Amino acid sequence: METSPAQEIWEAALGELQIGVSKPNYRTWLAKTEGLSYQDNQFVVGVPNPFVAEYLDKNQRSLIEKTLIGLTQRDVNVIFQVDGRYQEPESSYSDQGENPIATTQPPKFNSKYTFDSFVVGSCNSLAHAAALEVAQNPGGSHNPLFIYGGVGLGKTHLVQAIGHVALASHTRVLYVSAEQFTNEFIKTIQERKTEEFRHKYRSVDMLLIDDIHFIAGKGQTEESFCHTFYELHNTNRQIVITNDCPPESIPLLQERLRSCFEWGLVTSIQPPDFKTRLAILQAKTKDKGVTITLDVLKLIAQRAQRNIRELEGYLNRVIAYAKLVRASVTPELAAQALEDITNKDAKRLSITPSLVIETVAKSFNLSPLDLKSGKRDRETALARQVAMYLTRQETNCSLAQIGMELGNRDHSTVIHAYKKIESYIDTSPDLKRKILDIQQTIHSELKAGNY
Ligand code: ADP
Ligand code: MG
Repeated sequence: METSPAQEIWEAALGELQIGVSKPNYRTWLAKTEGLSYQDNQFVVGVPNPFVAEYLDKNQRSLIEKTLIGLTQRDVNVIFQVDGRYQEPESSYSDQGENPIATTQPPKFNSKYTFDSFVVGSCNSLAHAAALEVAQNPGGSHNPLFIYGGVGLGKTHLVQAIGHVALASHTRVLYVSAEQFTNEFIKTIQERKTEEFRHKYRSVDMLLIDDIHFIAGKGQTEESFCHTFYELHNTNRQIVITNDCPPESIPLLQERLRSCFEWGLVTSIQPPDFKTRLAILQAKTKDKGVTITLDVLKLIAQRAQRNIRELEGYLNRVIAYAKLVRASVTPELAAQALEDITNKDAKRLSITPSLVIETVAKSFNLSPLDLKSGKRDRETALARQVAMYLTRQETNCSLAQIGMELGNRDHSTVIHAYKKIESYIDTSPDLKRKILDIQQTIHSELKAGNY
């Protein structure tokens, strides 16, 4: 698969944006976006649905444009466009007329995510070995295989690599993110097609399910996944699960499911050490057909320490910058290309819990003290939960810190509030609108320098 300049620039931008916004915020709004086209200063970003388009347009436009301007050194006007391709997992099944959920279409994997292109280092060697074993010997001793690690460390890459091997050996394999699983499940209930849903998930030899944390606390979906899990596992069919933390740390996950995840093998991917980062950069430059000297690669590997997505972003940035200024890539030029990011990182304005709390309180006609108090009337309780939700979305505060800010409450109260609001948003358009408005106010207060 050729990458277009828009894709490349957007990858680089995502690498930066990931540092600039909180983790849940990144995951909710940016993780599933794509660079679609870049022409005449107009940059089109593909997003999975109109809700994301609206949020990004209202709240992150200026940050995104600044990032793109930094990368391209030109004025950029960004447009968020709902990208039809995200419908793929559903529509690839709905092509089948009468029986929309029946599974005969093979899943589409990213052609870049193979074992061949996966660089093995001490940070990921166990996960890699386990994945390889599962690919070659599905349903064996590593069932389920549970791979966990932070964002951008290669979980999806590894799981899809298993998928490629399975497809090649004609194993009936299904790859789905837990989010897709959830959406599909809800839809089948609405359309009364649960039997087909059951059939689809239970007739495969291998189920690859990415980012499982998404189903935790979603009652019926979790229940349905649990049944699928038992049935597949009982008949020795392979299950591979990824997550951002180990099973015991997934908030709100049913105890029963938690222990199932530990039946097979639980393995982690750690952030890459310097040597691995360098090896990955060497592999990526080779893949792109560009030659970059070792001292430059070392410089990039030193700067990008968090994860591999960031590493790729930095590399793309250096390459894009060299192309723009039509100069060859020297360590000086690379340092110059990366200087911006490092400075921006240090100076970045950030949203504080008190900004969130004040804005939420105002929008509910309450005072920040009400939210911190012991008041339990419905309106105050809802406002407090919204404040917890938004503080988690918009800041990098820990759950414990958020609890402290909102009247010394326990971290489990914060998790509960977060999950509750997250599911309300799905069902209540009014609350969804209100939250979008609050987010917009927070971002414009910040921009106006009022905080
Ligand atoms: P995660 O799912 O853990 O968030 P991804 O699998 O999406 O991370 O990986 C992020 C990017 O880093 C992808 O482009 C992927 O190809 C690349 N990547 C991750 N790990 C490796 C590796 N060991 N070797 C080569 N590329 C990697
Ligand atoms: Mg992933």
